[in-house]
Amino acid sequence: MSCKLDESVMYLKGVGPKRAELFEKLGIKTVRDLIYHLPRSYTDYSSPVPILSTEIGEVNVVEAEVVKKSRPAMIRKGMTLYKLLVTDGTDDMSVVIFNSQYMFDSLKEGEKYLLCGKITADGKRREMSSPNILSSAAEDKIRPIYPLTAGLTQSAVTNAVKNALGYALPADLEILPPDILKKTGLMSEIDALKLIHFPKSLKDADPARRRLAFDELLTLRLGMTELRERTRKLSTFSMPKADMSGFINSLPFRLTGAQGRAIAECLEDMKMPTPMNRLILGDVGSGKTAVAAACCYNAAKNGAQAVMMAPTEILAAQHFESLKGFLEPSGVKVGLLTGSLTKKQKAEIYSAAASGELDVIVGTHAVFQEGIEYSRLGLVITDEQHRFGVAQRSALAKKGENPHRLVMSATPIPRTLALMIYGELDISVLDELPAGRKRTETYAVTGKLRSRAFAFVKKELDRGGQAYIVCPAIDEGAANMKNVSEYAEEIASGEFKGYRIGVLHGQMPAAKKDAVMKQFKDHELDILVCTTVIEVGVDVPNATVMVIENADRYGLSQLHQLRGRVGRGERQSYCILITDNLSDESRKRMKVLSSTPDGFEISEADLELRGPGDFFGSAQHGLPPLKIADLASDGELIKLAQKTADSLTDTGRITLPGCEPLRRRVGSLFEKTYD
Ligand code: ADP
Ligand code: MG
Repeated sequence: MSCKLDESVMYLKGVGPKRAELFEKLGIKTVRDLIYHLPRSYTDYSSPVPILSTEIGEVNVVEAEVVKKSRPAMIRKGMTLYKLLVTDGTDDMSVVIFNSQYMFDSLKEGEKYLLCGKITADGKRREMSSPNILSSAAEDKIRPIYPLTAGLTQSAVTNAVKNALGYALPADLEILPPDILKKTGLMSEIDALKLIHFPKSLKDADPARRRLAFDELLTLRLGMTELRERTRKLSTFSMPKADMSGFINSLPFRLTGAQGRAIAECLEDMKMPTPMNRLILGDVGSGKTAVAAACCYNAAKNGAQAVMMAPTEILAAQHFESLKGFLEPSGVKVGLLTGSLTKKQKAEIYSAAASGELDVIVGTHAVFQEGIEYSRLGLVITDEQHRFGVAQRSALAKKGENPHRLVMSATPIPRTLALMIYGELDISVLDELPAGRKRTETYAVTGKLRSRAFAFVKKELDRGGQAYIVCPAIDEGAANMKNVSEYAEEIASGEFKGYRIGVLHGQMPAAKKDAVMKQFKDHELDILVCTTVIEVGVDVPNATVMVIENADRYGLSQLHQLRGRVGRGERQSYCILITDNLSDESRKRMKVLSSTPDGFEISEADLELRGPGDFFGSAQHGLPPLKIADLASDGELIKLAQKTADSLTDTGRITLPGCEPLRRRVGSLFEKTYD
């Protein structure tokens, strides 16, 4: 089916081959692409302010009459300056235009115009330079502002979009079947597009945005479902449920109910002739590693190998230790593979992996480097701390014969969001902490109370505990912020003289990091001054207090992760947040942390306060970026999209008749992302 919309923008009136090249830089090839090139914001010419009450330094819209046009002045080669004097009766203002003789010529003395630009002060008079100008008689007073590229002007894009929309027939654009439109009460696609480009008032743009955001969320959700179904079709090792008693008996604790349920769900998946694709969503300390270990055990008992990939060496080493502890008593062999091993060590692991001598290989991305071979890879576990994109996740799955996949979330996120971000996965939620776990008491204080905080830390150290102090990394040490090394030196010769202090930061060689970590773990150090590398770091139950300097620099969820490093043992633990940022937002954030231990609640608050940012940034998940919808503020729309998607699908296929356009949209979304 071809229509005018799928032709090159080159053929639009006023575009041509030259401009078409510029449009291509913006990712716009066809007329349809252009229609979906949405305004970044708008200029509202509908309510000008009197010149006298404009604020210097702000962007303002004024309506004024041209009083006088000065003679153009050549200020240097190729740079001509045009100056005008305008007035609106409250005051005069100079207007400066650079180089655009065309614009200058089009302005007539005695005529009224709307001018939008930043106001500066030129001696005694206000001045506006390079304003956007609209005739007072113009009908459309809301003008779109588009993302541009050098050589394209707002008006060139605006006119091209106008022409493009002229070619669009409702049927060419609508992707929703009529009954869905009716059920959701959303406006038609063509109306939405016309309104979002050229709203009559700023408010008009809202329902238009809503419709387009819905499309985006719906196609994303449908795409994820499809992706999931695609992997479901692949055959793999079917692993009957092993007798788990060997594993259970080697655990130093009793599984929580949530762990038990998650393990049962995983084993149920692994039994199937299609690969497991499951996410373990759980709060810090909820015991995700034990669930992963159970899966490894089941794989091993079925004669398959498991690989567990972590984003950093520190975390890989920790998982290795945990898995070894959980699995080796029952005869499951675990190995560690990281980039920092010697050639000889690596060769040994390689050969043990290839021969099948090792059942479980834990490591960094090295576990999937070329050259490594497994004898029978049946399970791949990834830790999403720093996230591997969807594409990457499936690339690595290819190393085996479609192994089962288990993903461990680093961040507890609200379930609706998880469904969106991890839509291609089934989800098990660990919503229960191991029994007897004490809530870490959290306090926020200003720097003035630092010495009291330190006195408190000393008390913990003196009764045999250990402490973390988190501060900025070496290269982040902005003014008045001490970086980790300076900080450690200072407290070593000051407040904490006589205590054993270690330093840990990301730029240290891996071997050095490991050594320091081991010292801290073995209680050869009392205090670990560290950067956020500790976020994914050691599990030291004897550490009972954490001080976080400049706490306002971190996201809530990150602070929650950090805090999760304490409170891992029997004793009451403490977290002291130090910040001199007393803004409302900072206070609110600190309050959330001190008032709840629930990571799910915290991430929801984080989302509300900060927006998804790079924290949930879809780019990091390898998902198509959301251009219009906002995961933070469109919660209700996300639910609507999910509900609609479910009503349209049956085992991952869009089933309703009349859904061809929607199906095509879903297809092209993922084509672009995974090319
Ligand atoms: P996370 O979900 O943050 O990855 P971990 O798997 O690191 O949590 O577990 C946190 C700590 O709790 C570890 O020391 C682990 O051994 C311990 N743990 C895990 N499950 C239980 C349980 N059911 N009972 C007691 N302790 C547990
Ligand atoms: Mg963990």
